Amino acid sequence: MKQSKVFIPTMKEVPAGADALSHRLLLKAGLIKQSTSGIYSYLPLAARVLNNIETIVREEMEAIDAVEILMPALQQAELWEESGRWGSYGPELMRLTDRHGREFALGPTHEEVVTSIVRDELKSYKQLPLTLFQIQSKFRDEKRPRFGLLRGREFIMKDAYSFHADEASLETTYQDMSQAYTNIFRRVGLNVRPVVADSGAIGGSHTHEFMALSDIGEDTIVYSETTDYAANIEKAEVAYVPNVKHDDVKELTKIETPNVHTAQELADFLNKPLDEITKSMIFKVDGEFIMVLVRGHHEINDVKLKAYFETDHIDLATQAEIVNLLGANPGSLGPIFEKDIKIYADNALQDLNNIVVGANEDGYHLLNANVDRDFTVENYGDFRFILEGESLANDAGIAKFAEGIEVGQVFKLGTKYSEAMNATFLDNQGRAQPLLMGCYGIGVSRTLSAAVEQNNDDSGIIWPKAIAPFDIHVITLNPKKDEQRELGDQLYDDLRQSFDVLYDDRKERAGVKFNDADLIGLPVRVVVGKNAAEGIVEVKRRDTGESEDVAVSELVDYVTALYAQVK
Ligand code: ATP
Ligand code: MG
Repeated sequence: MKQSKVFIPTMKEVPAGADALSHRLLLKAGLIKQSTSGIYSYLPLAARVLNNIETIVREEMEAIDAVEILMPALQQAELWEESGRWGSYGPELMRLTDRHGREFALGPTHEEVVTSIVRDELKSYKQLPLTLFQIQSKFRDEKRPRFGLLRGREFIMKDAYSFHADEASLETTYQDMSQAYTNIFRRVGLNVRPVVADSGAIGGSHTHEFMALSDIGEDTIVYSETTDYAANIEKAEVAYVPNVKHDDVKELTKIETPNVHTAQELADFLNKPLDEITKSMIFKVDGEFIMVLVRGHHEINDVKLKAYFETDHIDLATQAEIVNLLGANPGSLGPIFEKDIKIYADNALQDLNNIVVGANEDGYHLLNANVDRDFTVENYGDFRFILEGESLANDAGIAKFAEGIEVGQVFKLGTKYSEAMNATFLDNQGRAQPLLMGCYGIGVSRTLSAAVEQNNDDSGIIWPKAIAPFDIHVITLNPKKDEQRELGDQLYDDLRQSFDVLYDDRKERAGVKFNDADLIGLPVRVVVGKNAAEGIVEVKRRDTGESEDVAVSELVDYVTALYAQVK
């Protein structure tokens, strides 16, 4: 295409608040335009990149017999009431009301709709397995939309859903889908790592996330250099390393701790290391209050608590609830009380004597509290986030951290939706059984942004060639000169036979053209300049920056060979 006809509004200065590199580059290179918070238009170059990604996705889906459909974005509340999620999904669900007062949601995901479609049609085990997918805009009223396309309120997702008669079949599709995702991200040019993730109250190791490694990533990946273990930090299990037990049990002593509200303030006040302090927190688990203890340098992991208690409903107690329950504010809580509140302690508290805890009285703490003598622990468990350098459970090695962007997730749902929504099939004995389901998502627009996050330099984007908006950038430096314009036109026509070519025919200064070309970042550039009359042009790789003068007669062969080398 001729650049004079394409809409590419490149920018010199990006607006304040564009906080991720990919966000800034996509704005600067004229690929996206913000409508309002978390909502963007994809301009011509971005539309082409999306198309390229979607083509790869479609090819890999077809290869595993997943079939494309397109479901409505507008979903009636009744479906969500059937699954129970109209109540539980919370404020991320964009809700609206039609002229008759009926309630709807703009789809953030499609388990309900897809289950309602198949439940009337899939009647026999002979029709199974079946995998359906779509590529569509999704809507989530994210609390903090940010980083441009990485966390939008409207974004493009590929979502797939599979239906099975038995576990083995679900497992097969789960593995096929995981492999397809690995292929997709490799082909797209992303450095992605699959990690074990949390599957919420359903439990088990039924889900993996695909993480694009990047400093901007909002997820922490825990991995080991000595094994192939990799998990989301929410899930990474801590090995219990026994503490050295001291047997000099000392007398419980109450001390005044004025203006001390946090573990760090208490450690400073007592001049002790943070790990000698014990933090006590009150949670409400399915409506019942419990106390959880962790050491001062550890953070409670509510995902692990949810898995331990097998519930989605765990909240930190409010200040008012805590004062009402224990008569003290959150900064002075401890495990010694007369109430019927069960105490759960992190494994790292096992065998520790003489710990420092709150006195359940504002402004006071207790030294030398001892389990069994002063309070009872209902159970020990892994209730906290692992720290870098600690041992992972199951001999998985030493924990190392990396940041990642979640670009995809695969999930075994089991019968969660089919049971709630009464989606059954008849097995080979003629008995009605709930369908087993899997769901699988790729953030298509997030993938575009993650690809930019991983592939750039100081001058702009360096598109992996599989998804680049065009393959070749032909630039005529001064189209007012006949020999340059004519040669440019000719090369554009020649190269167009085998490549997608963007032809910069604009009457702009050379500096502007080079800047824009660097920003836009197409894999190979052909510059028609002052040597045009001699039939010489310059060919440059965007990734390495290497350039060479090439005779026009050899140009197509040269570019074809060079393009083949580019990643
Ligand atoms: P996150 O934890 O980042 O909020 P999620 O786990 O809620 O994501 P899923 O429900 O697994 O997301 O959705 C499937 C995929 O859709 C994700 O892996 C991600 O790539 C993409 N995605 C989810 N939320 C957004 C968003 N707000 N903006 C862009 N892409 C998103
Ligand atoms: Mg996810």
